[in-house]
Amino acid sequence: MTVFEHEGKLLVVDCGVLFPEDHQPGVDVILPDFASLRDRLGDVVGIVLTHGHEDHIGGVPYLLRERRDIPVIGSRLTLAFVEAKLKEHRITPTTVHVEAGDTHTAGPFGLEFIAVNHSIPDGLAVAIRTAAGLVLHTGDFKMDQFPLDDRITDLRHFARLGEEGVDLFLTDSTNAEVPGFTLSEQELSPAIDQVFATAPRRIIVSSFASHVHRIQQILDAASTHGRKVGFVGRSMVRNMGIARDLGYLNVPRGLVVDAQKLESMPDDKVTLICTGSQGEPMAALARMANGDHQIRLAEGDTVLLASSLIPGNETAIYGLINKLTDRGARVVHKGNAKVHVSGHASAGELVYCYNIVRPRNVMPVHGESKHLRANAELAIRTGVPADRVVIARDGVAVDLVDGEATIAGAVQADYVYVDGQTVGHADEQTLDERRALRDNGVLTVVAIVDVPGARLAEPLEFVGRGVAVSPETLQGVTRDVEQALGRAPREELEDVDRLDELVRKAVDRSLRRKTRQGPVVIAVVVEA
Ligand SMILES: [Zn+2]
Repeated sequence: MTVFEHEGKLLVVDCGVLFPEDHQPGVDVILPDFASLRDRLGDVVGIVLTHGHEDHIGGVPYLLRERRDIPVIGSRLTLAFVEAKLKEHRITPTTVHVEAGDTHTAGPFGLEFIAVNHSIPDGLAVAIRTAAGLVLHTGDFKMDQFPLDDRITDLRHFARLGEEGVDLFLTDSTNAEVPGFTLSEQELSPAIDQVFATAPRRIIVSSFASHVHRIQQILDAASTHGRKVGFVGRSMVRNMGIARDLGYLNVPRGLVVDAQKLESMPDDKVTLICTGSQGEPMAALARMANGDHQIRLAEGDTVLLASSLIPGNETAIYGLINKLTDRGARVVHKGNAKVHVSGHASAGELVYCYNIVRPRNVMPVHGESKHLRANAELAIRTGVPADRVVIARDGVAVDLVDGEATIAGAVQADYVYVDGQTVGHADEQTLDERRALRDNGVLTVVAIVDVPGARLAEPLEFVGRGVAVSPETLQGVTRDVEQALGRAPREELEDVDRLDELVRKAVDRSLRRKTRQGPVVIAVVVEA
């Protein structure tokens, strides 16, 4: 989420979610921090959405929960995806439908939209005109010259804005480290066709539920090879329905059938398309790999992972591939066949853009630190002065004054965790505790203490979860607690809270010494 401010009004560009990693157990998604907007929701004149990917629209329902009537501005497919998502949150948004080439005024911001090509159709870059200068924000983009929908990134429009003078250029950094040019989506056709030509039984394709272009390629291959297609999973069925209804997905009559119907068809006539290519544990593909999905994988089935391998998901994906292989499936993925191209511009394309736009200031966006730095280097190599390239981490405020962009301060920008129905209640401390529980288990100790005698009235009782300790060790722990009670000053024994803490610490210390284990210890102390 990027927020632009001018004349006291705010314009939000994109509002996505981040997906949790291993060290964030129990978290469903991570939201941008709305703290700095919360007191100024009335000043927000609109949310511009560059395209329909989760990492750009997933946070919109949570922002609209705070103020429902903020206008949501985007292209047709982007709006349709976000409206379907909002429906699940029972929110009907105020929308402004724009197309490439359109202009729209939102408060003091003059907006102009430019077609960009990406791994989802209908992507838009946005130019923002204010009295303080002209900003061009690419959103996610690449420069596929032969896209399936013939809609290329409109470099002529970029050039016109460049002629006018772009004061600040925000560009997609995701692939800034990748040399050369991103291949065209069409270059995948031979490898996909090969899979369909040679698969002896069912083909199960896994992709993102928003990757309309890739799924179009699968549909075309299935049609060519006389197979039927079923969509599996809620988000896949929903998004493909939307894309088809709006004309972004071309589905030959009779090709797509209900996934249930496919069960009665010969295996070599069946294609299933589902989510889960990143190894997400709850997605259809992971459940098939684990044998707890109604679709049972069998010897001779082919699984095609037609998507990227997002950094951080490697372990989950390789685990998934192994499980699928163990079930007898042949797994085709980007590591063994040319079945994926990136949706993002590589270094060669970014350099073209810098040379065409000739921006005064550059702010790399979208990507991790190393990607932002690599993108900054590219800008500098094309002649943008190094001190006009601003690398801004989350929460950093950048001023654009008199044609010069500088870092001006910062606002609160923590991770906000969504956990089931709760938003923002799980914090870093909660996650610390979860990690401790996950790594070391929990040991509850019940101590019945004879306070006047400064001793245990009965041996300690232990209830452990995820703890591996022998009974002998626990007997030793009981002796150590007994000793600690004997040494404790009287006032500590007579204060319930301090007595709890004394027992807890004694158990913890004893266990660490004897076993080098540090389970979370919960002490329940009862006076005898
Ligand atoms: Zn994207």
